[in-house]
Amino acid sequence: MLEVWELTKYYGKNLAVDRVSFQVPDGQIGILLGPNGAGKSTIIKSIAGLLRYTGQIRINGILSKELEAKRIFGYVPEIPAMFDALTVREHIEYMKMAYSSDITEEEVDALLERFELQDKQDKMGSELSKGMMQKVSICCALAVKPRVILFDEPMVGLDPQAIKELKEVILELKRQQVTVLISTHMLEMVEELWDIMYVMKKGKIIGSYRKEEVGNKDLDDLFFEMTG
Ligand code: ATP
Repeated sequence: MLEVWELTKYYGKNLAVDRVSFQVPDGQIGILLGPNGAGKSTIIKSIAGLLRYTGQIRINGILSKELEAKRIFGYVPEIPAMFDALTVREHIEYMKMAYSSDITEEEVDALLERFELQDKQDKMGSELSKGMMQKVSICCALAVKPRVILFDEPMVGLDPQAIKELKEVILELKRQQVTVLISTHMLEMVEELWDIMYVMKKGKIIGSYRKEEVGNKDLDDLFFEMTG
């Protein structure tokens, strides 16, 4: 279980995330849904260990700060950061080294194969399209064998085919019992993915829903109800 409790983040005097608490059970897909500026990225980055914050983040009851947080969370940023002078394979090997992952060469091969990157493994970061960068970014996140994978606005800038492939990857991760947290402002993009959804506005969670509670209720109505 990923548990976030009273997470609060100020940028200077600007309160970006205001005592946000939520949970994502193991092996489920959680969504942070809300407009730009709602605080979603700040939450994702805080969980990933990239920002200082107040509040608590726990995995199965243990504070993430006490765990080797870097190896528990895989983080796929909204804008993938690639090294121009590293190849696709070297990006994954860099993650292995930086995060002391025990991923084997065979497992790296399998990742490259899964993401259809075998024949692109020698391409440099500077030569990659946005879609390909995202695939490399996901491989890098998976190279640490995370228990929780964090996607920040993963569908932005992708073409429909890439979105379809990404959704398959996310559902595959769920089948492998990896917990997934996705931030998005596009409700329609996560319709078939979510188990638990938190709707955000101005740094707060203003509504939470479980898939089984919503049943057949139209999601657009739901979103309007929560944000309108
Ligand atoms: P978006 O999809 O646009 O990133 P978001 O819901 O992810 O939106 P955040 O990026 O977390 O929202 O931003 C929440 C608030 O914090 C906004 O008011 C934003 O302007 C502010 N903010 C975000 N990053 C910084 C930063 N590095 N410095 C100062 N303010 C920031």
